[in-house]
Amino acid sequence: GYSNKKQLDVIVVGAGLVGSLEALYLAKRGHRVRLYEFREDIRKTPQARGRSINLALSVRGRRALKDVGLETHMIKEHGIPMTGRRIHNTDGSTYVIPYDANTKQSIYSVGRNYLNGLLLQESEQYGNVERYFNHKLIEANLKKGSLTFLKTDTNETVNVTADLIIGADGAFSAVRKAMMKQPFFDFSQKYIEHGYLELCIPPADNGGFLMPANYLHIWPRGEFMMIALPNQDCSWTVTLFMPFAKFKNLDTEEKLLAFFEKYFPDSIPLIGKQKLVEDFFAVKPSPLVAVKCRPYHVEDKALIIGDAAHAVVPFYGQGMNAGFEDCTLLDQLFQKHHDNLAEILQEFSETRWEDTFAISDLAMYNYIEMRDLVTRPSYKFRKAMDDFIFWLLPNFWVPLYNSVTFSTMPYSLCIKNREWQDRVLKKFLSIVGIGALIGGAVAFKIKYYS
Ligand code: FAD
Repeated sequence: GYSNKKQLDVIVVGAGLVGSLEALYLAKRGHRVRLYEFREDIRKTPQARGRSINLALSVRGRRALKDVGLETHMIKEHGIPMTGRRIHNTDGSTYVIPYDANTKQSIYSVGRNYLNGLLLQESEQYGNVERYFNHKLIEANLKKGSLTFLKTDTNETVNVTADLIIGADGAFSAVRKAMMKQPFFDFSQKYIEHGYLELCIPPADNGGFLMPANYLHIWPRGEFMMIALPNQDCSWTVTLFMPFAKFKNLDTEEKLLAFFEKYFPDSIPLIGKQKLVEDFFAVKPSPLVAVKCRPYHVEDKALIIGDAAHAVVPFYGQGMNAGFEDCTLLDQLFQKHHDNLAEILQEFSETRWEDTFAISDLAMYNYIEMRDLVTRPSYKFRKAMDDFIFWLLPNFWVPLYNSVTFSTMPYSLCIKNREWQDRVLKKFLSIVGIGALIGGAVAFKIKYYS
């Protein structure tokens, strides 16, 4: 009970998006938090090399930010609402597929470094949070709760211990690596054939946006695609997703420009020919990895969250949102189990994996939808059916994308809900189909035999 409630001593490894948020949740509960980060303070290095420059924030992430008092600021002051996908045809014409035709909800484009900096800045409000940058975790004895860090600026090592270690150190987590030695720890990792490369559309000369701002722009080309998300300074971060083999073929300026002329001609004047060539050849495309593992904890001592526990491919825009949801759910478990770590960690492990596996699978599927299916009549037909029934019966029929993006329905239920909808529609369509056949046959008989 509450009578023996004590302040826990927690170490969070990784001050990325998820670790920084987790520190705030724990600080609010009154625990002592030490946050260790490999890189230097992101607030001092505005151009810190990250993953993507901006990302899509949706309801799960917003709920977490609300819990720590930052949602309104992020949405009202910083985020750029995106109301739908704006599809670019090869001839340069565009059309819009709204995310939510009925209740008009948006996802928000937010700057990664900005959000990360904001979370760290907020942690300064709490006397019980300490931040250590330039500290790389190099060794861990999780059962003992002890960690060894290398100070990257001085090359010293430091040993520290804590009641609880939370690994939020990303897709290549060192904490997870230490967990691998545990018996019954399941792990799988999948690199997809595709990589990504970021380009940029600058602001217009008058300082505005060069494309309609409130959309996620997509150039779907079947096997590959390009997307663009708006930035606060009216520029666009453009990301080309494509098989590595295809990237490799574009090894000269001529080939690159011919490729863009063929598939993305309308983007060339926006990006600028010169910048396109410069930026494309300045960096190598980055790989995309998905990691599934379980359990997420070691006894009452260590836990992994965020990408460390479940890196997903980025095509559902849910990686950060899912990581933020980890923090929300964990906080609810701290409440439920009155800080009893053994119970909290066990329940988190047992209940969370099904949903993170689900979003991982959904994200793999969504790549095909974004780059290919969106342009097909069968997709458009299904989307129209979904939107129509959703409009008729908003509480009864929530389309998959909406349940993932605009609700907090557990991800695994989002899939089950969709499978149920598929069955209903199949039945309905076969009844309509059979009805039409019988009707047709009867009409035919009446016409020719009576
Ligand atoms: P990270 O952001 O990777 O942070 C981990 C931190 O741990 C880093 O700061 C790192 O320096 C530190 N660290 C690593 N190793 C050590 C160590 N040994 N010792 C100490 N510190 C260490 N998600 C969305 O929700 N919406 C999107 O639109 C979206 N778009 C994306 C686009 C792309 C191209 C990519 C690649 C990802 C996208 N994501 C998106 C996913 C999102 O980026 C991740 O889910 C999110 O960054 C996970 O946060 P994290 O804090 O768990 O991990």
